[in-house]
Amino acid sequence: MSDYVKDLIAEVKAKNPAQPEFHQAVQEVAESLAIVFERHPEYRTAKILERILEPERVITFRVPWVDDQGEIQINRGYRIEMNSAIGPYKGGLRFHPSVTLGILKFLAFEQVFKNSLTTLPMGGGKGGSDFDPKGKSDLKIMRFCQAFMSELFRHIGPDTDVPAGDIGVGGREIGYLFGQYKKLRNEFTGVLTGKGLNWGGSLIRPEATGYGSVYFASEMLNTKGKNLQGKLCLVSGSGNVAQYTVEKINELGGKVVTLSDSNGYIYDEKGITKEKLAFVMELKNVRRGRIQEYAGKFKEAVYTPVDPKLEYNPLWNHKADCAFPSATQNEINGKDAQNLVKNGVNVVSEGANMPTTLDGVKVFLDAKILYGPGKAANAGGVATSGLEMTQNSMRLTWTREEVDTRLRMIMHSIHSSCVQMADRFGTPGNYVNGANIAGFLKVADAMMDQGVV
Ligand code: NAP
Repeated sequence: MSDYVKDLIAEVKAKNPAQPEFHQAVQEVAESLAIVFERHPEYRTAKILERILEPERVITFRVPWVDDQGEIQINRGYRIEMNSAIGPYKGGLRFHPSVTLGILKFLAFEQVFKNSLTTLPMGGGKGGSDFDPKGKSDLKIMRFCQAFMSELFRHIGPDTDVPAGDIGVGGREIGYLFGQYKKLRNEFTGVLTGKGLNWGGSLIRPEATGYGSVYFASEMLNTKGKNLQGKLCLVSGSGNVAQYTVEKINELGGKVVTLSDSNGYIYDEKGITKEKLAFVMELKNVRRGRIQEYAGKFKEAVYTPVDPKLEYNPLWNHKADCAFPSATQNEINGKDAQNLVKNGVNVVSEGANMPTTLDGVKVFLDAKILYGPGKAANAGGVATSGLEMTQNSMRLTWTREEVDTRLRMIMHSIHSSCVQMADRFGTPGNYVNGANIAGFLKVADAMMDQGVV
């Protein structure tokens, strides 16, 4: 690691205490960029990375609301407007009790590079709240979303900042948020993506992150003359990304044997077929139940609860060819990565954001497996959000086939950029370097053009 990068990481840690996920995301990117700064000292002189590290704006706000019992509840809301060099801020909202400023800063930082990779004109942002939607009535969710938007509305807009969903924010929440925005602004506009189909949403947007992550895996396999046909796959999570990852793997002839939630995971040796996936979708999206119920319904499946005493996650300790982490950050540690490699996994495509720790990433890179980092592999979601924005601006709706074709083309182009940049900077096959460098250069050049602002 160069002294410049070492000093920069040390400064980030000193200036942003108690934000370990943000430090981790910065370290991964800064290490990849060391070679770029060597070849292009002009970016160093212009302090481009130092500027990208500092959000353009951080908004935190009180979200007071009244629950079903008439009791007043107070949550904290955030929006990080990280970088607008190449377009309006764009990135999801996360509602989860683990949400902190540091977690949202890591997500917003990653988003800047990811959005740049998509080829679309989108800056980076992220937001959310420490609100826990789990087990809450629809009415409570609606009241919370309305309270949240009652402050957020003054900071966002179709040409300024366009939020979308993330963990805990799906179609239901986007609907309540959009309704409140429309009421407060008295305008019907493309201010959020992930909208319902009959009020401005795009076909394929719900599927896009999962489908995109599988397309990315297919692109990586294709470089070795292989495909997903007959491949045994591990998928974590059971939310939006996980569900459509399973759907697309099935379509392409692979077999998925695991799904999880924060309580535990199921292993189904017969495979999670289309019919079983329909059960999961109803369980998770309608009844909002736990994945354990899968093993009650399908006797061939085994449920294993999370054991906090274990230093590894048994989900990643099964024989397989491919892994699609699709739950949350840091769900694969160094030991899990070793288990995956030991068990024959040679493709990892990250549907989740930063699901692998720095130790885990090193294991994958040393083993030279096909490892697609989240900012490249899961960019299909935000790319399709970009396509939703385009359709909203044109006041047109594209067909399912048209959006899917564009998504596939975008994933192909992201994959090519990663491969080309990794080659150009002397680390062929390293998708981490490829994604970080390609994402950085577009934003960096725009910032150079626009002066010190
Ligand atoms: P989601 O629909 O809310 O599903 C999240 C899933 O992950 C649930 O099964 C959840 O289980 C599990 N999970 C969450 N926190 C967990 C934890 N601490 N430990 C274990 N499991 C946990 O969210 P999603 O949209 O699928 O997002 C999943 C990941 O993909 C996130 O990293 C997100 O940032 C990333 N991503 C999403 C999109 C998108 O378009 N939605 C785009 C790019 C990246 P519980 O129900 O038990 O919480």
